[in-house]
Amino acid sequence: MSELKTSQLVELKNHLDELQQQLEALLNFDEAAAETVELDQSKVGRLSRVDALQQQAMTQANSEVHKQQLVRVHRALHRIAEGDYGYCEECGGKVPFARLQVQPESGFCVTCLQALEDAS
Ligand SMILES: [Zn+2]
Repeated sequence: MSELKTSQLVELKNHLDELQQQLEALLNFDEAAAETVELDQSKVGRLSRVDALQQQAMTQANSEVHKQQLVRVHRALHRIAEGDYGYCEECGGKVPFARLQVQPESGFCVTCLQALEDAS
């Protein structure tokens, strides 16, 4: 069982639900933006085509970030349902509520996240 209070868990779950909706909207937006570039390619000049392609590359990079974050949000929601949310996926230690408030989709405590970042 999670050691988070029910009220804290509800707050974080609401936050995650919101994040999920925002990310899904962003992903739709990313896809629409990528399609617009293709449609416009025939009627734009060379310079603006370069701009458009840069824009598209940025959109695709954003889209990747949004997708990865959405996966983490889904996993966090799943862990809430399973009752093991709030524990680090690496060491099993408690993830502080303050940290979850800032990044509710994070599955790691600060120590393990730091270690993972150092390793990569
Ligand atoms: Zn940890």
